[in-house]
Amino acid sequence: MNKDEPFKRLVENAMDFLSHSIDEFKEHPKFSVIHFHTAVELFLKSRLMAEHWSLVVSNRGDSDWEKFIVGDFRSVTLIEAVDRLNKIIRSGFSKKDLKTFKSLTNHRNKIVHFFHESDSEEGNEKLREAIAKEQLTTWYLLHKALTDRWSNVFSPWFVNLNEIDSRLRTHREFLQVIFDQKMPELENFKQHGYIFRNCLTCEFPSQKNIDEIGKLYEAECIVCGFTENCITIACPECEQPIVFRNEGFGKCENCNHSFDPNSLAEELVDDRNTYIARLEGDDSWQFGSCGECDGFHTVVRLDKEGNNYLCTTCFGEFDSMETCGWCHELNTGDMADSYWFGCGICGGKGIDYELSY
Ligand SMILES: [Zn+2]
Ligand SMILES: [Zn+2]
Ligand SMILES: [Zn+2]
Ligand SMILES: [Zn+2]
Repeated sequence: MNKDEPFKRLVENAMDFLSHSIDEFKEHPKFSVIHFHTAVELFLKSRLMAEHWSLVVSNRGDSDWEKFIVGDFRSVTLIEAVDRLNKIIRSGFSKKDLKTFKSLTNHRNKIVHFFHESDSEEGNEKLREAIAKEQLTTWYLLHKALTDRWSNVFSPWFVNLNEIDSRLRTHREFLQVIFDQKMPELENFKQHGYIFRNCLTCEFPSQKNIDEIGKLYEAECIVCGFTENCITIACPECEQPIVFRNEGFGKCENCNHSFDPNSLAEELVDDRNTYIARLEGDDSWQFGSCGECDGFHTVVRLDKEGNNYLCTTCFGEFDSMETCGWCHELNTGDMADSYWFGCGICGGKGIDYELSY
């Protein structure tokens, strides 16, 4: 069998399960949950497969191509797949995303083992709302990976993916009720100075934002619960506020000044604090590198009181940085063995050297 064949089949099966899950949503929510979960798992496995087929096998020590092509192997679970994407391919998901995938698996397991139809129409409505939220938020994360970070792998399926994306978005009509119910709460928050922006997953203007420059905060959608790490800065050219949502790429709407993670990090670093701290021998205000996403010099300290560090590439939040024992660069990862094994930007001294010594 051609090595590409199992990969293509996986992707097509993933599409098929997803399509069924959307069809079943209204009348058979139980099957929609189960098939949606299978679809997500297959998409993640297909990304692993594009790297190497053996990554899909649960215990890689037993990888055997002949057994693999006839399906005689135990494959990774959805969560194991996310873990391998992060650790091996280094192109995965944040800790926050991982939580979303875990709750998808938990919900699916509950449905399989304990589900019974609600007696009331109201109970079924509530269930559909919960599933709509879950599928919209998970699909947002997955669709973004498939069409953005992994676009070189999945571009032949872009037409199908877009078609599925617009079908899935019809779920949002089930959230209209929640949005209507939340209106008074939303108005009340506005009176207290909060700003509401369109949520990226449910698309209602229900994402709650603070109105403050230079402060990292979690913007939560009061309809679907989707959250993003956000920070607002004043444009260095025209002083208009620019909001960065979960990524360091952005543009000033007023003067078109554009940013990437490194220029945002430059903008966020407090020069005065850095200067004073340096005089005092405190290097925690220097640029650090990110152990989560391998961002180089994209981690900055945000405030003087709290220990609050932001990576402007993955928008991960950290409460400390450590110095690599080998290259002496600041890093958000665990630097315990860094003298030997290095950090995200260096290889360390290397253990072989010492053994031959
Ligand atoms: Zn939302
Ligand atoms: Zn500007
Ligand atoms: Zn990062
Ligand atoms: Zn290092």
